[in-house]
Amino acid sequence: MAFSRFRDNLEVLAAQGLYRSRRVIASPQGINLQIDGKNIINFCSNDYLGLANHPSVVSAFKNAADHYGVGSGSAHLICGHSAAHHALEEELAAFTGRDRALLFSTGYMANIGVISALLGREDAVFEDRLNHASLLDGGLLSGARFKRYAHADVENLNVHLKKATGNKLIVTDGVFSMDGDFAPLQALSVTAKAADAWLMVDDAHGLGVIGECGGGLLEYYGLNQSDVPVLMGTLGKGFGTFGAFIAGSDVLIETLIQKARTYIYTTALPAAVAEATRASLKIVIAENWRRDKLKKLAERFRLGAAQLGLQLINPICDKNLNSVGWVSDSVAQQTDECAAGLRYANPTDMTSAIQPIIIGDSQRAVEISNALLNAGFLVSAIRPPTVPQGSARLRVTFSALHEEHHVNRLLDALDKATTGHKAQG
Ligand SMILES: *Cc1c(COP(=O)(O)O)cnc(C)c1O
Repeated sequence: MAFSRFRDNLEVLAAQGLYRSRRVIASPQGINLQIDGKNIINFCSNDYLGLANHPSVVSAFKNAADHYGVGSGSAHLICGHSAAHHALEEELAAFTGRDRALLFSTGYMANIGVISALLGREDAVFEDRLNHASLLDGGLLSGARFKRYAHADVENLNVHLKKATGNKLIVTDGVFSMDGDFAPLQALSVTAKAADAWLMVDDAHGLGVIGECGGGLLEYYGLNQSDVPVLMGTLGKGFGTFGAFIAGSDVLIETLIQKARTYIYTTALPAAVAEATRASLKIVIAENWRRDKLKKLAERFRLGAAQLGLQLINPICDKNLNSVGWVSDSVAQQTDECAAGLRYANPTDMTSAIQPIIIGDSQRAVEISNALLNAGFLVSAIRPPTVPQGSARLRVTFSALHEEHHVNRLLDALDKATTGHKAQG
């Protein structure tokens, strides 16, 4: 049997609670989903601002499909770069306060394209150990020497930087995708400048959500294009549509157009998606209430979860976290080194839409997720290798469309679903 070895592998994954499977969704994206004929409240989407099915975004998409059709016909460099793409790039450049922006078909491709375009064998890339898979893959594919530093640990990064030669690129998530904490971007930017390295931030989960104007972590920390020369954003999360972009200097963008293989050798995303994103960008900028509400919901949840004795992740940084155990919020807040280089007024300013509950054991995380589904709540269990061994978690995310009663009901369900877990732990 050709694939018998893989069948064995699949059985091992299942026994370890690491088997992945899909749920079939019959409804539009939103906080109410239909799964297997049941109505479920959704707490695991990245559609943080509730724009994936917003009427003006949908109608912009329909109108653009009437005008441009569906397919984009080719890559951007052949005949696929429409007026809609071009206008969106200009608007994204203005939104991020940068010279230029360049659209990519997905965030995965943007990350692989930019890192490989900037680095070669003579160079070195430094990545936070909790970076998104696409950043790690981009670093590996570039052929540059590859170093992972301890999570949010600028001192550890510095040790690696000192030994490096060639061009140096430091790469980090902004808001970390599976933890929801903030990268120490001010300290990273100071460190990068001192080491003559470039800094790249992937703010897939911060853009639109964090900052007064939705400018993400760079707005929050007050960092500009010279502090962080490479900014990557995705459009499939806070913006509610699809695609991604890199924003930076004119030279950076022109270099990517010449050299980024995942830009050059792939079909442009449909023009209608670009038009839909232009509509969603307008809402992201104008509707502050969505960000305010998200923060209130997440804070309500953190308070309730702490009262239930559930283990949250500290928003400031997780330097205190090791591969098996997490310290509680109060301990982490007392740890001075954790705050090195950060100037935050109040940790609650750093509340993101991602609020994981650490469970530890993968099988256990899956059981709790299934129990929540039976109770009518969709919360995904995130397991290794997406997160470190022994740190399986329920990745709870909020949407501006949730109401406080949804959060309260989730907390009740979590209390019931984790009772056995707490007793064992
Ligand atoms: C989702 C995500 C990506 C990938 O973006 P896609 O557009 O979904 O391919 C990249 N980086 C981070 C941090 C992400 O969360």
